[in-house]
Amino acid sequence: MEKLAIFGGTPACRNPLSYGKQYIDGEDIAAVTEALCGDLTCGPKIGELEQALCRVTGAKYAVAVSNGTAALHLAAMAAGFGQGDEVIVSAVTFAASANCILYCGGKPVFADIDPETYNIDPKSVEKLITSRTKGIVAVDFTGQAVRHDELRELCRRHGLTFIEDAAHAIGTRYRGRPVGSIADMTCFSFHPVKTVTSGEGGAVTTDDERLYRRLLRLRSHGITRNREEMAHPTDARWYNEQVELGYNYRITDIQAALLVSQLKKLPEFSARRKALTARYDAAFAQVPEVFVQREIPESDTTRHLYILRIRPELLSCDRRQFFDALWMENVHSQVHYLPVYWHSYYEKLGYEKGLCPNAEKYYQEAMSLPLYYGLTDEEADQVIAAVKKVAAYYAKDRTQSAASRT
Ligand SMILES: *Cc1c(COP(=O)(O)O)cnc(C)c1O
Repeated sequence: MEKLAIFGGTPACRNPLSYGKQYIDGEDIAAVTEALCGDLTCGPKIGELEQALCRVTGAKYAVAVSNGTAALHLAAMAAGFGQGDEVIVSAVTFAASANCILYCGGKPVFADIDPETYNIDPKSVEKLITSRTKGIVAVDFTGQAVRHDELRELCRRHGLTFIEDAAHAIGTRYRGRPVGSIADMTCFSFHPVKTVTSGEGGAVTTDDERLYRRLLRLRSHGITRNREEMAHPTDARWYNEQVELGYNYRITDIQAALLVSQLKKLPEFSARRKALTARYDAAFAQVPEVFVQREIPESDTTRHLYILRIRPELLSCDRRQFFDALWMENVHSQVHYLPVYWHSYYEKLGYEKGLCPNAEKYYQEAMSLPLYYGLTDEEADQVIAAVKKVAAYYAKDRTQSAASRT
């Protein structure tokens, strides 16, 4: 810790900045208050939310659920993933993207990332396809859309179901089409760190009516009131029938009301996140010791995460030291993510290190800087100053540093 003594001394009384934070205004509070006086669950706010999600994403159908993990689980079930099926998933993501495959008895197969965009690399996916492959779970990491053209073509050629984990990507477009209307099923999360929130919440969107009906039924125990789906149809008004094993993954009307209100602000949230991203990108382009995430031109991205990636070959420190120094400077960064198969649970399942070299290298070098709607320009500039200070301190080539860091 000795070396860190120079950090944290300037200027006094700054509040620590975390990597993400929700933004709640008076309209959100009014919407929730109103919902508390109506049906608390299974009421009209759910349909209202689903319509709003269809408008935002351009999808035909939306099914709102209790969280993003539930959305992924239901999508994996609706896709029919089962025992012995292989499903290809990005190695750099939150564990839930792969866990949903395990929930269904399937086997996650980890694809490597593109070293510059950090998104799943279609070339890596192609090499992993076997006769047992049933689908792909592709994550729009940091909010940037995956390479849909290449992935959809692979899915078409091999008869795979394409699930998009768009937990980071509400508001993003690919070639002008909103995320949510492109893959077979798209899953969203509305956890408070995400771009819009319902506290806990999630959704699956799809254009396929058959998948939609199945998702609806699985959300509520596998119980149906639709006579066509019953083994023993009757016209008794009270009758409903459980036709398969589902769950209670419903979202409440209280949460739905909050999210309807939040979605109205999505264009502003999106614009602010883009502006902050541009501000960081411009500043860090001047710092040789760090690397700026590359954007593909097809993606018009609403960034959920801003990743700072260090270049260890130009620094006399590792990611841990860089991260700790930023922390001392009141920039409370986070790391997204440990390659999923490095988790000890996956290790016990037999996954070994070395599977995805780009993902593993990325993990040694990355950290997420503060990025959220309420972050002011002044705060963003504090983050930039902190990064420059730490990079200058640890730079191997101090002369070059001095010129670019003022
Ligand atoms: C947040 C997140 C999830 C899970 O969402 P929850 O709503 O927290 O269950 C899944 N995948 C990714 C990539 C996420 O970031």
